[in-house]
Amino acid sequence: MPKTRLKLLLACALAACRTGAPARGGDPGAQAPVVPGIDPSIMDPSVKPCDDFYAYACGGWLKTFKLPPDKPAYNRSFTAIDERNLELLRALAEQDAAGHLDPADRYPDKVGDYWAACMDEEGIEARGTRDLMAAFAAIDEVKDLPSLARGLARLHRAGVFPAFRIDSTQDARDATQIIGEVAQGGLSLPDRDYYLKDDPAAQGIQKAYRSHLTRMLVLAGLPADEAARQTEAIYALERSMASAQWTRVEMRDPERTYNRLNLAGLEKAVPRFPWAIYLSDLGHADLSAFTTTTPPYLDRLEELFDSTPPETWRAYLRWRLLATMASQRALPRAFTQERFEFFSKNFTGAKELEPRWKHCVRSTEGALGFALGQAYARRYFGEDGKAKTKAIVSGIESAMRNDLAEVAWMDQPTRRMALAKLERIVNKVGYPDEWRNYDRLQVDRSSFFQSVLGANAFEVNRDLDKIGKPLDRGEWLMVPPQVNAYYDPQLNEMVFPAGILQPPFFTRGAPDAVNYGAIGVVVGHELTHGFDDQGRQYDALGNLKDWWTPSVGAEFDRRTACVVKQYDGYSAVDDLKVNGKLTLGENIADLGGVRLSYAAYRAARAHEAPVAGFTPEQAFFVAYAQAWCTATRPELLRLRTATDPHSPERWRVDGPLSNLPDFAKAFSCPEGSGMVRPAAERCAVW
Ligand SMILES: [Zn+2]
Repeated sequence: MPKTRLKLLLACALAACRTGAPARGGDPGAQAPVVPGIDPSIMDPSVKPCDDFYAYACGGWLKTFKLPPDKPAYNRSFTAIDERNLELLRALAEQDAAGHLDPADRYPDKVGDYWAACMDEEGIEARGTRDLMAAFAAIDEVKDLPSLARGLARLHRAGVFPAFRIDSTQDARDATQIIGEVAQGGLSLPDRDYYLKDDPAAQGIQKAYRSHLTRMLVLAGLPADEAARQTEAIYALERSMASAQWTRVEMRDPERTYNRLNLAGLEKAVPRFPWAIYLSDLGHADLSAFTTTTPPYLDRLEELFDSTPPETWRAYLRWRLLATMASQRALPRAFTQERFEFFSKNFTGAKELEPRWKHCVRSTEGALGFALGQAYARRYFGEDGKAKTKAIVSGIESAMRNDLAEVAWMDQPTRRMALAKLERIVNKVGYPDEWRNYDRLQVDRSSFFQSVLGANAFEVNRDLDKIGKPLDRGEWLMVPPQVNAYYDPQLNEMVFPAGILQPPFFTRGAPDAVNYGAIGVVVGHELTHGFDDQGRQYDALGNLKDWWTPSVGAEFDRRTACVVKQYDGYSAVDDLKVNGKLTLGENIADLGGVRLSYAAYRAARAHEAPVAGFTPEQAFFVAYAQAWCTATRPELLRLRTATDPHSPERWRVDGPLSNLPDFAKAFSCPEGSGMVRPAAERCAVW
């Protein structure tokens, strides 16, 4: 359950976006093909590069590729590597489960037990709802506010978050301090807007959700009429929570979502709720320093604690636990199937459930990712890859340094602060220096349900234990096999896990043009996040602090308004438009990423020969575009438009490049072509 509010990722973090299967046929043992950085065979020669570069670079593949039935989307780079990783991690977990323990690995017994519990589908079937009913019995104790506080604490401790979330976070104004964060949450649909909109599409989803909820309650043993009654009460409660929550665009504002208060302040904001009982049962009675993301949401909780009868709370708590465990596939098949049908029809478009073994690799990775990741990194990540990546990172930081020194719209005081921030950025490459200690994680090989709760409890406790202790700068928020990267503004650091440092992003011996076009742009993207509309609000030490002189800040806002307008004009799917404000930070990072990596490439290369028939400059842009070739089902595109801060891949390519004079020059694109925005509309931030 990672927090993602301030972590600026490279790609969609929704589980639906990173599911994958081999492109060819259904043999789960088959190795997915290694994709080279440039593949002329997937291009569409009938499209001119100056008209639509994404269609030119990816169009041949997009026209012929058939999405595997279990896939909501398939990206030729991310998904292909993810598929290879699934095979490798599965082999490691199977070896551990069979008792062939490698003495060099830590926790192979826990990895093996967790994996075996997850894969024991017949055992899960035979156990039925026994574990669920035991947990329901505890929820039945809820009859007033003190017992509700205890019930919420019990579920929160187990990683199930009805009503609100609680986490640790760095204090935005003093990044050296770790405090508690009480955040809006508790919904079942993927965004508040699904409860609040009343167009026909939204009404359809609301109706389908209520039917799904009723069917799940019936599967859990309720008579149909009682299930229908509870459904309406639960839905009304969730809808009331949703209507006091801020939108994803509002939640992108770090000033607005920082509301520091101590325990007395929390008790004053929600006086009916017995916080002392809650915190004590959470196992963290001593917590006293907090921030809350959404003050009006605390007001709504206060109203709901007053007006909602205990029987509705009980029904809602049971439902949140049931839904969480079904999403983990820790309940019998009928639950998994019912949940899949609701989500696939409304949000992902997948035609088949992902094979269980793939789910179990992801689940084991979620529970024990740094144990599994240590074994993975030791076997599959070379030190030469680390050294080469560090060299590329340093070249791109130099390009940013030159940029900051020269950019005409900055004044000297702001420029000095920006350069100071750049100098302090920490880079983490491959895998952590210190591996996570899982000694206290409890796994039960005979019950996957209990193993999931055990892993959740371990993670929640590990997270809350950080409050009040010195900041650990060595921690990683992504496991080494993950095919992604992030910039963290509060730690002022960039992190590139081993998973993304392989072909086609990084290929040993590939021409520089290809590596800079692929992994170089990833590095430039993350670096730019430090200076996007959110990142720029933090200083070199990771504190939320305005270090911009007002006129330079206003110029920055003028430049980013151009980007908002550009992406607002793009179609996501059917008549649905991209949300320029939701995707602003990512679009700034894409734009800066290509520009910085191209500058670094030009500075680094000696003479390069043509690559696959392209000039080196053209090859850079083809490698960039082909890293993003993605087939996506329309259902997922609609979900992503509502929830994902990243633009659809087509616009992640055509959007930045149509602003870039160097691109137009490389392909000799005339003014007025589709890939050359008119000078008056061209956007440039970094
Ligand atoms: Zn990003």
